[in-house]
Amino acid sequence: MKHFDVAIIGSGPSGASTAFHLAKKGISTVIIEKEKLPRYKTCGGGFVFRGRKNMPFDISNVIEREFNTVDIFLGKKLHFQTVRKDPTITMIMRDSFDNLIVEEAKKLGVTLLENNKLTAITFKDKKAYLTTSETEISASFVIAADGALSPTAKMAGWDKETRKLIPALEYEVEVPEEDFNRLKDEVRFDIDAIPYGYAWNFPKKNHLSVGVASTKKAKINLKKYYQEYLKTIGITTILKESQHGFQIPIAPRTDGFVKNNVFLIGDAAGFADPITAEGISNAIYSGVLVAEAISESNLHLEKAKELYLEKLEAKLLPEIKTALWLAKWFYEQKTIRNVMLKKYGQRFSEAMADIFHGERSYPKDIKQAITKKIKELVF
Ligand SMILES: Cc1cc2nc3c(=O)[nH]c(=O)nc-3n(C[C@H](O)[C@H](O)[C@H](O)COP(=O)(O)OP(=O)(O)OC[C@H]3O[C@@H](n4cnc5c(N)ncnc54)[C@H](O)[C@@H]3O)c2cc1C
Repeated sequence: MKHFDVAIIGSGPSGASTAFHLAKKGISTVIIEKEKLPRYKTCGGGFVFRGRKNMPFDISNVIEREFNTVDIFLGKKLHFQTVRKDPTITMIMRDSFDNLIVEEAKKLGVTLLENNKLTAITFKDKKAYLTTSETEISASFVIAADGALSPTAKMAGWDKETRKLIPALEYEVEVPEEDFNRLKDEVRFDIDAIPYGYAWNFPKKNHLSVGVASTKKAKINLKKYYQEYLKTIGITTILKESQHGFQIPIAPRTDGFVKNNVFLIGDAAGFADPITAEGISNAIYSGVLVAEAISESNLHLEKAKELYLEKLEAKLLPEIKTALWLAKWFYEQKTIRNVMLKKYGQRFSEAMADIFHGERSYPKDIKQAITKKIKELVF
């Protein structure tokens, strides 16, 4: 049976990035991926600059469009726009983007086992034994980078669901040339286009990715809101459309990120942004952190666990914790939020743009700051 230092389950941005960074340190790494690459992944494909600026190689070949200007709408009355020197959101299609990272990792010696679905995992003598649909291997470390459903986490003992998973529906849409030309240069978010959430229009090279996401777990007819949103952005004729629904985990697990030899990253851990549900940048970032932890530990399991948790606590988890509070307030306190946005909407949009650029993070004292502003408005 072939042995690797690290086996990564999943070749999305989190897994592929981890593989890249581990291989750079000379650590023997295998990616186990159930699909044949490149594979479609349900996603708006909006990659924010905080992720893009830290990419260790050129991604220009997979860029569909870049947006330095971002538009946020709240109904028909409020519209805020931010403009930045660097692209706030870069549009990518996930098949080619994810595959690019895998290819870069392969150049550094990473083994890819595609069409290999992980079906079982056991632990013995400090090693993990992995069974896939095609083969068996062993590894000293296992990284669960297998997305929102994370079968690896289930197999490895995370038997309760403690993340907050929200529904999202996205369509790849082809529209008449006239509509495309009108919409192709504007990336927009429409807050409240769906209860407790937002809709988006993310233009790609030749089509639009249009979608809706709600931060409430309740049953919501996503399709109905998507269809209404098409009207909002003036689309009445559709030439071609494909529907993709999936879940996004917007709150981290509360029962730990490491068990036995298994480390959780990306959606498997629940690291998407609670306000925007943007998950690619944190998926990549958590991949970098776990790779650093393993390499700095010199492949010492207990030390690596300690380091990974320390690294998560340094920035990512506190940021998400603040954003969780803010998201709940933002989507559930509509009346007061709208009053606040009327007065401070531009400031809020600028702050979000700064966060997208990695120039600031969610303020730790957000609760006090908002309470203070509400008092100023009311009294
Ligand atoms: C509708 C929608 C729109 C979104 N839009 C955006 C957006 O615009 N911008 C943004 O930043 N984020 C967006 N997200 C979130 C983003 O897609 C995720 O946060 C991101 O893909 C997480 O990356 P990951 O590497 O953790 O997992 P994934 O990208 O989900 O990768 C997991 C991989 O694991 C593989 N896998 C699963 N099970 C197994 C198994 N048993 N064996 C082997 N392989 C397995 C899968 O095939 C997949 O390749 C969106 C999500 C949805 C649902």
